[in-house]
Amino acid sequence: MAEITFLGATKEIGKAGYLLEEQDETLLVDYGVKFGNPPTFPDMVYTSNLQGVAITHAHLDHSGGVPWILSKNPHLSLFCTPATRDIVTLLVHDMYKISRGRLPFSKKDLARVNRQCQALTYEETMPIGRHFEMTLFNAGHIPGSSMVSVRYNGKRILFTGDFNATESRLCAGARNNLPKHDYVVTESTYARRINPDREKIEQDLVDTVIETAESGGTVLIPAFAVGRSQEVMCILENYGVLDNFPTHIDGMARAVNKILLKHPEYVGSPRDFESAMKKTHTIHNNRDRDAAVAPGNIIISPAGMLKGGASHVYFKKVHDDPRNAIVLVSFQIPGTPGAELLAKKMATVGNRLYKVTAKVRYHHLSSHSDANGMLEMLSNIPGDPEFFLIHGEPESCEALAQKLREIGRKATVPERNETYQV
Ligand SMILES: [Zn+2]
Repeated sequence: MAEITFLGATKEIGKAGYLLEEQDETLLVDYGVKFGNPPTFPDMVYTSNLQGVAITHAHLDHSGGVPWILSKNPHLSLFCTPATRDIVTLLVHDMYKISRGRLPFSKKDLARVNRQCQALTYEETMPIGRHFEMTLFNAGHIPGSSMVSVRYNGKRILFTGDFNATESRLCAGARNNLPKHDYVVTESTYARRINPDREKIEQDLVDTVIETAESGGTVLIPAFAVGRSQEVMCILENYGVLDNFPTHIDGMARAVNKILLKHPEYVGSPRDFESAMKKTHTIHNNRDRDAAVAPGNIIISPAGMLKGGASHVYFKKVHDDPRNAIVLVSFQIPGTPGAELLAKKMATVGNRLYKVTAKVRYHHLSSHSDANGMLEMLSNIPGDPEFFLIHGEPESCEALAQKLREIGRKATVPERNETYQV
C-alpha cells in the first residue's frame, strides 16, 4: 500500500508539497515557498530514499523550496518541462536576491536547479526509481505548466497543479482526455467563483487601453512577469493595438519573454507571441523609462500587484494625471498596493501613500479554471477517482469537495502533514 503525505498548500495557497511513498522509495511533487518574514517551506523530508522532485509549474509557491531540497541532496533529480526548468531558474535567483540571506540555502544550490533537471515534454513517460512512472500533461495555467500523473503498484494518481481548462491567448487549455486515474490531488483556488466570459474581459481591456491612449493618456498595466505579461501582449496583438500604439515591456517580463522565445512549443500561439515580441519595445535603462511615459503609450511591467519592481517607477510617473490609466489584470491579494488601489484609489508605494487621480481599471485575466470549469474537468477524468482538495482557502477546498460529493464522488480536504493510504 502506498501513502501520500500533504506537506503544504492544505486549506491555503502557498508552499505546495506532496510526498508519495511506495515501499522503500519516495517521490516529491512540488516543493514551494510561502513568502513572509522569514519565508517558510514545507517540512523537510528524508532525502535518502527520495527518487526525485516533480515540479508542476514555475510559480514559486510550487518550486521555491527546491534549492533547499537540493542543498540536502545535491544529486537529486528534478522532473519538469524545459520551459518550467528555465523559468524556475530565473525565479529562484530573483527570490534569492530579494531575500538577502534569509533563505536556508546558498547560491551554489540555485545553480543545481538547472543542472539536476531531467526535462520531460508533455505526454512523455519516464520511469523513476523502481516503483514510479511519471507522465506530464499540459495544465494550461502558464507556459510549461503540467499536471503530474504517477503510476505505482498498478495504480495511478494525478496532481493537477494549478490548471486552466479554458484556452487563453497564451496557453492552450489543459489536456482534457486524461487517462484513467485512481486518485486526483486538485487545486481549489477559484472553487467559489465564476469567471466572466473570456472574450468580454479581453474586449473590455482593449477598450480601456484604446480609449486612454487615444485621449492622450499613458496606460500602465502592472502584470506578473510569468504568464500575465505575455498574455496581455498577445491580446493587444490580436486586437491590433500593438500596430497603433507604442507598447513597452519592462521588469522581469523581459527575461521571461526571452525564455519563451526559446520554447515556442509551450506557448499556445507561438506566431502571435513572436509577432507581439517584434512589435513591442523592450526597456533597457532609465532613459527608456522616461521616454516610455508619453501620451498614447502603453507600458506592461511587473509586479502584478504593484508590490515592487519597475511597476513602482511607472506608478509614480502616471498616478497623478486623470488622462492616464492603471489597469490591473490579476487577483489582488488583500494587503498589497494593488488591492489598496482598487479599494481606495490610493496606494502605498515605497513607504509613501499616493492619492491616485489616474483612472483605475480591473480586467481579471484568470489563469485558473473557475468553479464550473474545475468540476467539468475533474468529473470527466475516467476511473471514478477519489479526490483530495488542496491549494485554496478552507471554504474553497470544502466547496469543491461538496460539489464532488454531490455527484457521488469521494472527496477529502486534508490537513497539513496528514498521511493517507492510496
Ligand atoms: Zn500557479
